[in-house]
Amino acid sequence: MINVGIIGTGAIGTNHLRWLSTRVSGARVAVLFDVDAKRAAALAEGSGTTLGASAKDVIENPAVDAVLIASPGDTHAELTLACIRASKPVLCEKPLAPTSDECRKVLEAEVAHGSRLTQVGFMRRYDAGYRTVKQAIDAGSIGEVLVVHCVHRNVSSVPSYTSDMSFTDSAIHEIDTARWLVADEIVATTVIGVRRSSLAPSHLRDPQLVLLEFRSGVVVEVEIFVNCQYGYDVRCEVVGSTGVASLDNPTTGALTRSGARSEPVPADWQVRFGDAYLVELQDWINGLEKGAVRGPSAWDGYAATAVAESCVASLRSGLKTTVSLIERPALYA
Ligand code: NAP
Repeated sequence: MINVGIIGTGAIGTNHLRWLSTRVSGARVAVLFDVDAKRAAALAEGSGTTLGASAKDVIENPAVDAVLIASPGDTHAELTLACIRASKPVLCEKPLAPTSDECRKVLEAEVAHGSRLTQVGFMRRYDAGYRTVKQAIDAGSIGEVLVVHCVHRNVSSVPSYTSDMSFTDSAIHEIDTARWLVADEIVATTVIGVRRSSLAPSHLRDPQLVLLEFRSGVVVEVEIFVNCQYGYDVRCEVVGSTGVASLDNPTTGALTRSGARSEPVPADWQVRFGDAYLVELQDWINGLEKGAVRGPSAWDGYAATAVAESCVASLRSGLKTTVSLIERPALYA
């Protein structure tokens, strides 16, 4: 049995607590902590879990075998470094850190530790639809990958959402899945100005379009539109030299009547990727039972943040921006 400590019990932390407590086998949540003490206390009471006094208390607690970090992104690097210092495996929600400099510190600490402890919460890699696309690419079913078209749409954005977050918070998922599908690194990004939706908040550039160029010449085009009004819509189409592999919304039943056919669009990320979080958590626990951390690595977290940073630089300058990554340490070969 793997005893997990959770830090941060907001939207995603509560989701993870629920899955780990009810659906994931081989795990139990031993301790949880949130700076919102009332929220944490209510969740601890409802789930029969002990309340930690601080994040440090969770990480250093001898009853905790592994840590799940679900606090805001600007806390991730410091908490992940504390887990590495304590030699505890850690599943850190995305992003690994908001800046590539902070991510590099995590890489350096893990390399000095000598083995992988960190997994980053890029759960789309566990989604059945994405996995089907990945299998088609790896089996050579669509020939050589040439171009990928992606859309990432949300119903509406919260007031604190900024134009930078289209890349650092939203498209970071497409950045990771593109790197994973294409099995290569992104070398340049270009953000292209798009006509602004009149329904987007006035401070926000929405929608936005970005081109991600890979070393191999593959180009991935991502549309991020976080005030699309109609639903949570994540799709992609991978165009190869002999065919196309597509990620569509999962079908949950269609209505055909009066000469028209309609299918529901997921309401939000929890509906669309609920199963992926569960598979992600089960795989993390199964790996830990065998003493292995095998999901998206600190290197993947670093590379994704470096690309998101490049997108923000391109947004500012209006120019194509190169991505310069450090040499990949052998630990992440
Ligand atoms: P949220 O709802 O705001 O929850 C974060 C919680 O952490 C809040 O209760 C917050 O308390 C608490 N907190 C803040 N600082 C803390 C600290 N130092 N130690 C412990 N708790 C702390 O945010 P969320 O939407 O769950 O997102 C959390 C993280 O998960 C973000 O990095 C986000 O990008 C990521 N996320 C990933 C996915 C995915 O698809 N993989 C989906 C959603 C979120 P206060 O509110 O009092 O500050």
